[in-house]
Amino acid sequence: MSKPVVAIVGRPNVGKSTLFNKLIGERRSIVEDTPGVTRDRIYAEAEWNDRKFLLVDTGGIEPKSEDPIPKQMRRQAEIAVATADVIIFMCDIRAGLIADDRDIAIMLKKSGKPVVVVVNKVDKVGDLPFEFYEFYELGFEKEPIALSALHGTGSGDLLDAVIEECHFDENGGDDENVINVAVIGKPNAGKSSIINRMCGEERVIVSDIAGTTRDAVDTRIDNQYGSYNFIDTAGIRRHSKVEDRIEKFSVIRAKMAVERSDVCLLMIDAKDGVTEQDEKIAGIAHEAGKATVIVINKWDAIEKENSTVNEYNRKIRTALAYMPYAPIIYVSALTGQRVAHLYELITQIYNEARRRITTGMLNDLLNDATTRVQPPSDKGKRLKIYYMTQTSVAPPTFVIFCNSEELFHFSYRRYIENCLRDTFGFEGTPIRLVIRQRGDDSTK
Ligand code: GDP
Ligand code: GDP
Repeated sequence: MSKPVVAIVGRPNVGKSTLFNKLIGERRSIVEDTPGVTRDRIYAEAEWNDRKFLLVDTGGIEPKSEDPIPKQMRRQAEIAVATADVIIFMCDIRAGLIADDRDIAIMLKKSGKPVVVVVNKVDKVGDLPFEFYEFYELGFEKEPIALSALHGTGSGDLLDAVIEECHFDENGGDDENVINVAVIGKPNAGKSSIINRMCGEERVIVSDIAGTTRDAVDTRIDNQYGSYNFIDTAGIRRHSKVEDRIEKFSVIRAKMAVERSDVCLLMIDAKDGVTEQDEKIAGIAHEAGKATVIVINKWDAIEKENSTVNEYNRKIRTALAYMPYAPIIYVSALTGQRVAHLYELITQIYNEARRRITTGMLNDLLNDATTRVQPPSDKGKRLKIYYMTQTSVAPPTFVIFCNSEELFHFSYRRYIENCLRDTFGFEGTPIRLVIRQRGDDSTK
């Protein structure tokens, strides 16, 4: 079962992203503070008293949107309502209670979801300023909580209130042995069909069992291959016809499904080949660093000759050139052809994405690699690579220390990545290389 989802909503500038960063702060890895690898996260895991949940900053979803603010707020509130189990509604004591806050409150109340009102920028400790009491007018069941996202005061009370509203299953909502699989792809690619086919009679709608009100349709399945939780973005779509009309929504939904997943099944309709929309969706999985299987569906509907598979392979590799690591499988959700293989493939690439290579082995590889192909040089200065170490898994991430980031050309990066793959495999998963520069040691 997946973790509860908690969304932060509120007008611009009330402090949503400040709170978001504060709550996930400690979880940032070495990778994420490296320029170029940093990505604005809208979705991250947070923890309080050993309870884990997923936090969404709805304000971060479309940071560059040029839509008028009321429209943005409406969309963010809709996203929160559609995806979250609990909503943190943030207001700003400096601005006081204003009309826009009341509008958001109305939208949130209609949803019937638990809402925790938090009044931010209460920076002074001590008695609450009288303006604080205005926010009781919003009329939510729970009392408003005073917070200074900047200093962190009040965040404990806030988290207590949030956790109280979350439903956790017995193991704390975090079942480490289950592989979360996001089934992504354009409408009608066959996402629901493949899940139905894979789960067959045993299909269980998890979100019903847990009694959550979230619209996400998760399907849990245990079989001889392992335990899987399928996240069906198509199912989500069908539950909210209104939002369906907004093209952006399906992309946001795909993003959220991908972020929750360990492995992505990228469903492509064989009849259409790889379309622009497929490329966009594939990019989401790649950017998020997720292990991915390219699933060519509706293979039953294709007239085949000897060269058909080769031609398809070539076209897919060209269109999705940035994910050469992803295996391609040809299936039919309709007839069930090769569908059973998917389980093994999912488990295999899940394990590949979690492999750890010792620093010793990595440096042996580095020695071989730099002997075979000399590192590049420029104006008499040669790239020197000191050592390499793996800092995390899923995706496997390697930090390489060298004398000059600048000299570490793209082609040499790719060469090192290829050496890693030739030696260790990592089938199905992206790999990240982080280059770190250490002073000028060219004399040594
Ligand atoms: P968002 O648009 O809701 O995500 O708001 P931001 O997190 O970007 O914050 C908007 C501004 O409010 C920034 O300048 C923050 O530094 C500031 N801010 C956020 N939280 C606090 C707080 O607790 N106290 C004060 N004084 N300023 C804050
Ligand atoms: P979703 O929108 O991605 O969930 O797609 P659906 O699973 O609802 O399937 C869309 C349509 O494609 C339906 O009419 C399915 O019957 C059809 N379909 C799905 N898989 C296959 C397949 O393997 N072969 C054929 N011929 N049709 C399929």
